[in-house]
Amino acid sequence: MKIEVDKNGFYGKFGGAYIPEMLYPNIEELKEKYLGIIEDEDFKKKFSELLRDYVGRPTPLYFAARLSEKYKAKIYLKREDLCHTGAHKVNNTIGQILLAQKLGKKRIIAETGAGQHGVATATVCALMGMECTVYMGEVDMERQKPNVERMKLLGATVVPATSGSKTLKDATNEAMRQWINNPVDTHYIIGSVVGPHPYPEMVARFQSVISEEIKIQLKEKEGRENPDIVIACVGGGSNAAGAFYHYYNSPDVRLVAAEAAGLGISSGKSAATTVLGKLGILHGSRTLLMQTEDGQVVEPHSISAGLDYPGIGPVHAHLFDVGRGEFVAVEDKDAMKAGVELSKLEGIIPAIESAHAIHALNQIKYGPDDVIVINLSGRGDKDLETYIKWGEY
Ligand SMILES: *Cc1c(COP(=O)(O)O)cnc(C)c1O
Repeated sequence: MKIEVDKNGFYGKFGGAYIPEMLYPNIEELKEKYLGIIEDEDFKKKFSELLRDYVGRPTPLYFAARLSEKYKAKIYLKREDLCHTGAHKVNNTIGQILLAQKLGKKRIIAETGAGQHGVATATVCALMGMECTVYMGEVDMERQKPNVERMKLLGATVVPATSGSKTLKDATNEAMRQWINNPVDTHYIIGSVVGPHPYPEMVARFQSVISEEIKIQLKEKEGRENPDIVIACVGGGSNAAGAFYHYYNSPDVRLVAAEAAGLGISSGKSAATTVLGKLGILHGSRTLLMQTEDGQVVEPHSISAGLDYPGIGPVHAHLFDVGRGEFVAVEDKDAMKAGVELSKLEGIIPAIESAHAIHALNQIKYGPDDVIVINLSGRGDKDLETYIKWGEY
């Protein structure tokens, strides 16, 4: 079965655009125009120039000798941690700001939970001299002060969302409301492969540069484009979608997705959507999400802010549903151990999100000749406080 999006934005049973009528004009405009714009030669040239000169791509594919020795396989790390701003998120925000310019938009809005997507958005708005407003839950603003200050330093306006639980979903509601009120001049930058069609596929395409580069780099190093296994962590799923994209339809490549099990699958404090989630509608798409019996979204938990999301993007729900993806749930404590381990074995302090992908090595089977690529989605600088509180290193 071919993994691809259909014209209505579905991957199998998942996806689509379940939006209030007021948002139709915005979504219709994007749906009609996005492919034409991003496949245009001028766009492609600008996008790849910025990825090279501003983001620092291609990011290295690094053979991790000591990690390989320990786990008895040939392990490569795709170094998204070396991207400007410290993670893969900027690949998408660069793509979307160029798209917004082509659409003639003047203002950018975004929502952010932990602030990482807000920072990546504020960064590209500064780069392009565009007005930027980021909506963020009031509680999250308190918890993530350094990122709030980064956004301000970059020239963005950060607006607190004060309704509900004052976290990500409330910020998303606020951003949607603003978008409905300003459809003509405003582009809404979504930060993962979530939201109504065409966002999931559009974001995946911008992130697909990750697997495009892996193919070329692995060919140089191993004489073949396809590894045996690709591993990536999944919050909404954008870094994983990027790392899997050019391998979706290569059945010889195993696709392993690491979700956050938080304090444990049955603890009531986790974000392991494929284990605990059911079919529902979240942020405008039909997907798997964690919900109560009567359909209320459950507050997720993960020690890593980037994986602290109650759903997964529709493409991942589909990969899970048809058995193309192998999903593992990694607990907080195991991710922390893996983060410390990578720091000591390779001199690379990973983002705690990425440490979930490293720990997946302990939760899957493979052989000594297997070539494994782990997508190291981000660096650990932002997580130093969490490492210090954890204390065991
Ligand atoms: C935001 C983030 C993630 C999770 O987002 P995805 O869309 O699932 O990739 C993972 N790693 C890092 C470093 C992040 O900042």
